Formats: sequence, C-alpha cells, structure tokens
Amino acid sequence: MYTTYNIEHYLVMGQKIEKRGAEFKKIGEQYGPFMTPAEAAKALHIKSVGKVNEILKENIKSVQGYTFWYESKKTYKFEIPHMETKKEENNVRKHSKETLKQNLVDVGFDVVHIGELKGTATRVTVKCCQVDCEDHCERAYKEFMTDYALPLCKVCIEIFRAHERKMNKTKWLHEVRPDLEVYYKPEHNGHIPFTKIRKGSKEKIFLTCTQCQYVQTVQDATTPNKYTTKKRNGRFSSNFTCSRCNSLLVKFPHIAAEWDEEKNGPLTQNISFGSHQQYWWKCANGHSWKTWIDKRTISKARCLRCFLNERESFAGKLMKEAIRELFPQHRVKVEAMVPGAMYRNDCVVELANGHTLVFEMQGSYWHYTDRKLMEMDGRTTHKDIEKFKANRAAGNLVFLVNEYDFNFGTVDVTKAIMKHAVEHIWQYVQAQNFTVACDVAYNQEKCEQTMRTKQAYYIEQFNERYDQTLPQRLDRTTMKYVTFQHRYEIYEQAATYM
Ligand SMILES: [Zn+2]
Ligand SMILES: [Zn+2]
Ligand SMILES: [Zn+2]
Repeated sequence: MYTTYNIEHYLVMGQKIEKRGAEFKKIGEQYGPFMTPAEAAKALHIKSVGKVNEILKENIKSVQGYTFWYESKKTYKFEIPHMETKKEENNVRKHSKETLKQNLVDVGFDVVHIGELKGTATRVTVKCCQVDCEDHCERAYKEFMTDYALPLCKVCIEIFRAHERKMNKTKWLHEVRPDLEVYYKPEHNGHIPFTKIRKGSKEKIFLTCTQCQYVQTVQDATTPNKYTTKKRNGRFSSNFTCSRCNSLLVKFPHIAAEWDEEKNGPLTQNISFGSHQQYWWKCANGHSWKTWIDKRTISKARCLRCFLNERESFAGKLMKEAIRELFPQHRVKVEAMVPGAMYRNDCVVELANGHTLVFEMQGSYWHYTDRKLMEMDGRTTHKDIEKFKANRAAGNLVFLVNEYDFNFGTVDVTKAIMKHAVEHIWQYVQAQNFTVACDVAYNQEKCEQTMRTKQAYYIEQFNERYDQTLPQRLDRTTMKYVTFQHRYEIYEQAATYM
C-alpha cells in the first residue's frame, strides 16, 4: 500500500553572533532546532532564506546578526500511498463525499476532511504522510489522484525535497537505491563494491535473488541509470524482480508443459509468467494454438478445442441419459457404426416396431466450420451429409440436436431441458407415422425457424411449457453457426426424398 522512504535530515540551529576583534563569538540563547532553513529564517525574522543557506554552507558568517548551523541528524519516515493503483472506473459515476473518501482511503490516505463537493476538484484534507507529523495537507482530490501530489505538510515537503535534491546531486547508486544492496554481490560484478557503482552508469549490474540465488544474465539485468530513473509519480521505474522466481517455468509448470518447443524454441527461465508476448502452445491432446502468455497465466485461458470438446461431450452425455430414460423398453446403442459406412452415430434407438432413430449431437464449434466441408462432384458439401445419406440408405431417421437449439454456453443445459427436446422429436415421429425423410423435413424446418426468429428452438418451447425465463435469444456468433448449417443444408434437401 505504501512506499516507505527513510530520510536522514539535519535540523537547523540559530544564535546571535558578534564580532570581537578578529573573532566571531556566539552570544545569548540558542534557537531551534528548526526543521528547515526557511523555518529558522521565519522564526528569527530573517528576510533572506538564501543567506541562511549560504551560512549553512559556510560561505558567509552572518545575516542580521544571526548565524546558523546544522545539528542533530534525525531520520524521518515517509509512507507514500500508491495513488496510481486506483484506476478511475470507466462508467461515468457521480462522486459523492463517500466515494471520494473511499478512493483515497483505498490507496492509503488518512482522510481528515472532505470539503464542499465539486467532483474531482473537491478540496480534501489528509494527514501528512511523514509518520511523526501531526500536520495536514489540503489539496484538490484530482491533484492527489491524477497528478500524484504527495500528501505532505509544508515543513515535511521541504525535508522530502531536500532529500530529492541531494539524491539528484549524488553520483552514487547506493545513496539513491540502498534497497538494492541486498541483491548485489561484487563477485558477479567485476569485484566492484556496491558503494563504487555510479547511479548514472549505463553498464548493466547483475543482481542475485535472495530467495533462489539466481544471478541475472545480460538478458534480464538492467543498468543503475534505469534503477534511478523515476516515474511521474516519484517512484522508481525499475525494481529488481527475479526472472526465475517469476518465470513461466517455475510459477506455472502445468502451462509451461504445453509450451510448443518446436515452434517457439526452448522455454528458458527468462520468460516471465506475466509476459505479453505471443507464443505457440500444444495441449495434451495435440491441439496447437497461439496466444499471449499473460492470457494463459493471468486470464487462465486453456485450450479452446479441449474446452469445447468437453462441453459437447457433456451435452452428448445428457442426451444419451435422456434417451435411455425415455426409451426404457427399446434398444439404445451409443457410438454405433452406420451400416455399410465408416461413420459412427452418437445415439441409436432400435424401436420394437423395426424403425431406427438416430440422435446426433451437433456441437456448434466442430460441426459448423469450414473444416467439415468437402468437394464432391464439383459442389461443396458437408461431411455430415454423407453420414446422413448412409443412414438413410439403411432406413434410419436422423435427428439433429444442435447446441444452438439450447443456446448452450448462455444456458446451462439440464436433463429436464434435454428430455423435453427428445420428447418433442419422439412425438413428431409418431405423428408423422415414421414416414421416410420426415427427419429431414424436421431438421430443415427447425433450422429455418431459427433463422427467422433468432431464438433457441428448444429453449423457446421449454420456457413456454414450463413457464421459465431462460435466455432464448441467440447471439451473433451463434447465429453464424445457424447460417452455416442453413447455407450448406446440413440436414439435406427434403425434396430428394419427397
Ligand atoms: Zn508533516
Ligand atoms: Zn529467485
Ligand atoms: Zn486441446
């Protein structure tokens, strides 16, 4: 929540001075200690702070009969809130005193008072962030949250600025970044001691992780110049992070296992788990795809094909269970071969009356893509059509149960919904008296109705029948699958059989 700075600061003392012969002698009471030269000048009614500074630098002896000197070094602790962690929400929201206060508190401000409400221009009073200081700092809300003004009182800001001036003047890294010393070992840096590294140096320094002892290499090491550069909000732009401890390999071994070495080259420890670089991946089932590392590690994206396959097989399983429950008296076969062909049917019901019903679960992703198209006798046809023809040659009736009929992905398909679908098909077949090609007409009519209404066919019916409110409207992507099925007439043309 905070960045802590421990800043050493010298207090200022003042006293009257008199010239006695060649000697100067301090006389009377000592004044102070003062936090800053400006404070000392004000207290003793000295008009020129510049002259006080000159005296402190020992360039001149006195001003208005007073002399000044530094005394008693003191360490001040500053706890500066992380203003930049709070991103303004995208949706325009009207600020209230409470939301302004909450935003400030969230990033670490100690709020004293919120003034009259004027949006982000509202004046707010917060405690000074020098820990021993009881004083306050008043500014506009946006000065803190947008311009990253430091919450420091008039005195403490002088101490902080004096420190920054000193750090700008020094040429040594150890003065500006004492925090890096724990990671620095002379033996990895040409035996140069940490205190002899210049802050502006553009030669890389090689730091060692205190957790895993990993030593940086040319690839991940950076320069003192970078370590001492500051961002707009006053914080350093580079910090030490261990590449190995933060590597994809160490932090996400299960994702690293899907790294496609053939296409990417070997996975080294320099590749960070949070990298926004695109690479190739290969899942345990051999699917290959390309995506960003952070998409996998932070957004938890996995193999889309595996995910969709699992989803489809879940729907397929539900369908088989529903069919078994609805046809307890008949023979139900799963993954049965299509007679005289190389295809397999998802679920086959051999009815006692001699008819055979085939139920095909069509997952949108697999069944409605160009991959399933093929050229035959000069026209483009869909592989599934060949399978249905083979079925029909054997006298089977094939019913397509599409994922989009359930708005799957938006709706969690349950067995009750699936049972409704299978029952609907069963009633239709009975009403049609098992007529040849009645299945083709059914599949075609179902698809055409979906094209017209953009509603999930079975969800629409289910909602109506059971007084439900499941989302039945299909989104754009899903409608693409419907259009695909319609364009290639994956249900075949009924006219062929009529
Ligand atoms: Zn203060
Ligand atoms: Zn490490
Ligand atoms: Zn996969």
